[in-house]
Amino acid sequence: MNKVRVAVIGYGHLGRWHAQKACGLADAQCVAIVEPFAENQKKAKEAHPQVKVVADVKEVMNEIDAAVVVTPTSLHFEVVELLIKNNKHVFCEKPLTATYEQAKHIQKLAKEHLGLVIQVGHSERCHEAWERRGEFKAFFEKAGTARLNRLAPFKGRATDVDVVQDLMIHDIDLMLYLFPEMPNKVEATGYKIRTPKYDYACAEFSYPSGRRVIITVGRNHVEEVRHLEVTNDAGCLMVDLFRNEIIVAEGKAQGPDDFVKKMTYGKRDHLLLEQEAFYKSILNKTTPMVTVEDGLKAIKLLDLVMLSLEKKEAIKID
Ligand code: NAD
Repeated sequence: MNKVRVAVIGYGHLGRWHAQKACGLADAQCVAIVEPFAENQKKAKEAHPQVKVVADVKEVMNEIDAAVVVTPTSLHFEVVELLIKNNKHVFCEKPLTATYEQAKHIQKLAKEHLGLVIQVGHSERCHEAWERRGEFKAFFEKAGTARLNRLAPFKGRATDVDVVQDLMIHDIDLMLYLFPEMPNKVEATGYKIRTPKYDYACAEFSYPSGRRVIITVGRNHVEEVRHLEVTNDAGCLMVDLFRNEIIVAEGKAQGPDDFVKKMTYGKRDHLLLEQEAFYKSILNKTTPMVTVEDGLKAIKLLDLVMLSLEKKEAIKID
């Protein structure tokens, strides 16, 4: 195989961008867009007249090697399960599934199909800032208090799931990626504001080392906020994921000119990087950039956040 024959499944808000990447990458041949709704089918046909548009992936199963799954989260499980059972490589948007039980089942299936590349779309790992962590080691290696905030005005999207599955999953994955230890307790609070699901949630994760990570997400906020802030005895580090800035106030800094340093980092096309990595993993038979195990770990914590929200109490993490 020198090109991966791929179908993009779901042509909604994000699917149209995934289809654009799949149609433009040298390692892929986008052979189909799968979309059941007529209005979105029409948009897909207009944007990609050379690509077959079908309502069900079963119609093109024999023509593809892989699929990019961009359906609503509540459908990830059934779509990914069907693809793996048909021996297809899968790139699935975050979160891998809506529940931990479903993700465990996908992990089992993946183990039965070891030759397949299953990649999860935890795109926030693609920020260039994380590659510069070495410059700010003390903030990541020593225990401290970290805050991850991801809030936005209401857009009416992804209301099939709580804001925990929609937004907090990004930050749970970042937390696991950036801080190399597992938390042992989580306590969450949340509010249902505009939908029957949680539209706001705040979860505090405690670690055996004394580290604390507080993740706040909301989809009914007054403005767009996306940042990581870490404070410990080295000082304060802030990464603004929206403006692509790293701002640091190190404890050892001396004069007023030197005290707060602001740097920018390059904006990247995360979907492009993820899809490029996906096809390279298939063609070179290498481990994907975000594995099923990574996706499962994030969903395990996500489920415990939901449990804490429902029980209104702190939950131990084993
Ligand atoms: P959306 O509702 O706009 O689009 C989903 C599309 O899937 C719709 O067009 C719908 O008609 C289609 N669909 C429904 N059932 C289908 C089926 N059985 N087969 C094929 N298509 C089907 O949703 P969205 O905002 O594009 O989100 C899709 C996924 O992408 C979600 O899982 C979400 O979590 C994820 N997402 C990730 C990011 C990110 O930053 N990585 C951003 C936005 C969304």
